[in-house]
Amino acid sequence: MGFNIVLSSPSGAGKTTITKKLSQKYPNIKVSISHTTRKPRPNEIDGVDYHFVDVNEFENLIKKNNFYEHAKIFDNYYGTSINSVNKLHEQNYDVVFDIDWQGTKKLSEYKELNLIKIFILPPDKSELKARLINRNQDNNQTVEKRLKQYENDIKHWSDYDYIVINKDLESCFNQIEKIIKSHKRKKMSFI
Ligand code: 5GP
Repeated sequence: MGFNIVLSSPSGAGKTTITKKLSQKYPNIKVSISHTTRKPRPNEIDGVDYHFVDVNEFENLIKKNNFYEHAKIFDNYYGTSINSVNKLHEQNYDVVFDIDWQGTKKLSEYKELNLIKIFILPPDKSELKARLINRNQDNNQTVEKRLKQYENDIKHWSDYDYIVINKDLESCFNQIEKIIKSHKRKKMSFI
């Protein structure tokens, strides 16, 4: 099995950009595509950003034990499919999970995954608000909801192995690359 890396952050801290950048730069890294009942945003593609499903379908998948973990976030379900992740493992890919703290806690119970857990933080709350407004994906009410959620999310930083502040994207990305490379080096020295 390759590496399993969790990247969590409050919404708007830049995590999605970083996960995409990692998989573009490193062909051996694939992002785990979650299922969600959230409606797609205008720039999102089904099967690429998420598997977009309705509540019925999601609840059926829960009943069939299809998920490593699932959580309700902002009134929508999100879940990590066991089948999709297993397929990536069979092909020896390193897998990046873009999931929240609840998912990270549950995924950590699968010791065989040997998760590397990274928490990305925005420099401060006002910067986060500016980013949420600038990315223009959510209405005012949703932005306020996400800001409230921020307070709750950051309480869970101590569940992670690394905390990276995303002041600017390049240096945040470089730090994450360094973390992954150092784990790879350690693993190689054991072989
Ligand atoms: P968004 O709606 O902005 O794409 O994602 C909202 C939150 O859901 C983010 O914190 C994201 O990391 C989290 N998320 C996405 N997929 C999953 C998943 O499969 N499981 C869990 N627990 N959280 C997820």
